[in-house]
Amino acid sequence: MPSEYPTASMPSPRVGAVDVSRETEAPGIDDTPIARAAKQAVETMGRASEGLPRPERTRVMVVANQKGGVGKTTSTVNLAAALAMHGARVLVVDLDPQGNASTALGVDHHAGVPSIYEVLVESRDLAEVVQPVRDVEGLFCAPATIDLAGAEIELVSLVARESRLQRALSAYEQPLDYILIDCPPSLGLLTVNALVAGAEVVIPIQCEYYALEGLGQLLRNVDLVRAHLNPNLHVSTILLTMYDARTRLAAQVAQEVRDHFPDEVLPTAIPRSVRISEAPSYGQTVMTYDPGSTGALSYLEAAREMALRSVTTAKEEV
Ligand code: ADP
Ligand code: MG
Repeated sequence: MPSEYPTASMPSPRVGAVDVSRETEAPGIDDTPIARAAKQAVETMGRASEGLPRPERTRVMVVANQKGGVGKTTSTVNLAAALAMHGARVLVVDLDPQGNASTALGVDHHAGVPSIYEVLVESRDLAEVVQPVRDVEGLFCAPATIDLAGAEIELVSLVARESRLQRALSAYEQPLDYILIDCPPSLGLLTVNALVAGAEVVIPIQCEYYALEGLGQLLRNVDLVRAHLNPNLHVSTILLTMYDARTRLAAQVAQEVRDHFPDEVLPTAIPRSVRISEAPSYGQTVMTYDPGSTGALSYLEAAREMALRSVTTAKEEV
């Protein structure tokens, strides 16, 4: 072969190696050539199957923010699916009466299905309600039905009302690497149960104007629960969601959050993406709905960052 033959020295295209935190979902980006999408999908699956260090103990992560619509449910299901695709065993606990996480995972949760309500209020074993998630090996879900809407009030009169989820999780004997709890948009007894059951709080923050409003109240609640009910509780992760690189506001909000929480904010921000919002209507996460999309790649990367942090945290604790 002639030495001037250029193939070896030609730069390879950076397919899939995009900096997702900066990528914009400009109109029409979903129409990218099929070949590129396919290549990205293959790369996503390849990257996912590389595997990651597994935590020594189950990490129980509470995805909380009393604001609605900030990306709690979307982040819970996609991070959980991404971690499972990285080889971890993951349980999603749906603690929102709306059952959006159950829907997004394609898990049956019509009225009458044994659910997290029975676990909390009737002391049923968690094992009786957990269902495997179709399409993602190693991913499981404890669904929420509409019954859970009454639990906030019914719990008030029960013994150990704040620690019922914690008891159920500790009695669950299946080996798990992660438990992700999707909280409702309030700071009531359901969220308190989650904060008592977990050690890590994950706060999704939408990169919009009122992003930090209400955060102080959430942090005070975390402090209260730590002081009185769960000394291990801490905010481990802040995830910037719905980042729109076309607006200066998003960049400003992101910078402000990073200034306030330099250690907690994950380097990867989740971009605003049509694919992410479409996936639940197919009973899927974006990780299976469109594995090559920027949304899936960014959740995969965020999950990797979270998993690698666990190693550091575990070492620091020892
Ligand atoms: P929460 O659980 O905090 O109420 P959701 O996860 O349900 O928030 O998200 C609120 C809405 O925003 C949903 O319709 C969801 O599909 C959409 N959404 C969430 N994240 C993104 C994103 N990165 N890009 C586009 N839409 C998103
Ligand atoms: Mg939700």
